[in-house]
Amino acid sequence: MTYDLVIVGAGIGGSAMAATMAKSGASVLLLEKSTSYEDRVRGEWIAPWGVAEVRRLGLYDLLMEAGGHHITSHVTYDESRDPDAAETTAMPLNIFAENVPGPLTIGHPHHCQTLFDEAVRCGAAALRGVNVTNIELGASPTVTYDHDGAEHTAHAALVIGAEGRMSPTRKQAGIKLHQDKPHHWFAGLLVEGVEGWDPSRQAIGTEGQFGFLAFPQGGDKVRVYGGYPLAEKGRFAGEDGARKFLDSFRMNCAPANRAIADGTPAGPLLSYFNNDSWTDEPFAEGAVLIGDAAGWNDPINGLGLSITYRDVRIVSDILKATPKGKTPDFSSYASERAERMRRLRFAGHLQAALDMEFGDEARARRKSYHERSAADPTLGMHGAAIMGGPESVPAEVFTDAHRDRVLQG
Ligand SMILES: Cc1cc2nc3c(=O)[nH]c(=O)nc-3n(C[C@H](O)[C@H](O)[C@H](O)COP(=O)(O)OP(=O)(O)OC[C@H]3O[C@@H](n4cnc5c(N)ncnc54)[C@H](O)[C@@H]3O)c2cc1C
Repeated sequence: MTYDLVIVGAGIGGSAMAATMAKSGASVLLLEKSTSYEDRVRGEWIAPWGVAEVRRLGLYDLLMEAGGHHITSHVTYDESRDPDAAETTAMPLNIFAENVPGPLTIGHPHHCQTLFDEAVRCGAAALRGVNVTNIELGASPTVTYDHDGAEHTAHAALVIGAEGRMSPTRKQAGIKLHQDKPHHWFAGLLVEGVEGWDPSRQAIGTEGQFGFLAFPQGGDKVRVYGGYPLAEKGRFAGEDGARKFLDSFRMNCAPANRAIADGTPAGPLLSYFNNDSWTDEPFAEGAVLIGDAAGWNDPINGLGLSITYRDVRIVSDILKATPKGKTPDFSSYASERAERMRRLRFAGHLQAALDMEFGDEARARRKSYHERSAADPTLGMHGAAIMGGPESVPAEVFTDAHRDRVLQG
């Protein structure tokens, strides 16, 4: 029961890390609470810079063989724009990362299972249905858990906390999670039987009190999200909630959305409030955090998977470069992640202010932004950071001066 690494949580981050480190020869124990992966309305769209991270980890072919689907163009609809004009100025998505045709979509539960199976194939010891009862960190970390009716204690040089937002490893390490205020409600639903939607095209748009995002998953399936004001908590509650949600997609500014509204729910409708969170240092003696456990970006940007894959790449590179018996130094990971999350938080605040605020003032602001950014593409640089990575645009984009330019009425 002694390993190089015990990884708690086998979502995207935990399983990708287990596969990567087991492949490099480390002994890995991967512990997952659930017995099967369910649709909890989690990320199914990987940004072009995240796809580049998947490639660097050597996991791209695996995801494509598992049914990964590329999207190659983007349309921004808005109540202030003519739909034909929006469609004829669709943005190509192959311009943000080298040799990446565009964002990659794949169903979240299937994505998790694919990576979990890969971790096992690469030699990780991987358990499901585990109840972790105690984590001790410091110089000699241990993880105690119940599995199959028996209690076990595993020893490891390092515990990797990959349990998502409510990370017990983070708590045990005494790492503070900072969170900003919720900005809007955000509901998601997988829709099938979507006939006539171009599967290579994603779209966003705002009309009235609703902002939508639609990401085709290949075939007739589209993952859709909708944002609405915090004051409208119960808007899609009740038995007919999914139907009411889909009806919100019937927008004058986005006639193509009819195909989504006429589709059939293929999973649960779940709502979350959107916000950002971060940690100052996602490591402590005996532990390091990756993915949502280390802090998350507002899902309005759709970057949690890309962030998680970059965490896996950076942390696994540090571990591989650390001689056996030596303590890994995660300070470069901490400083890169702090700046990465600061920039993405800034981009998320701006995107949410544009797309997920409602009423006359917000409408006028969006209209002005769309008109001015058509003439001056530098106004949309925060969007390029979302697609191409936060380091791909100049630092000035993440300043009040850029924000003021974007949001001026
Ligand atoms: C509404 C919404 C939409 C989103 N859309 C996108 C998107 O389009 N694109 C994108 O990139 N990101 C998106 N995200 C974010 C993305 O889903 C997450 O950032 C990503 O799933 C984080 O991966 P993770 O492995 O860190 O955590 P998780 O996916 O949360 O996985 C954690 C795993 O740990 C397990 N676990 C938890 N506690 C324990 C425990 N005590 N012991 C053992 N196992 C445990 C869980 O069962 C789970 O399998 C979205 C998020 C939300 C809320």
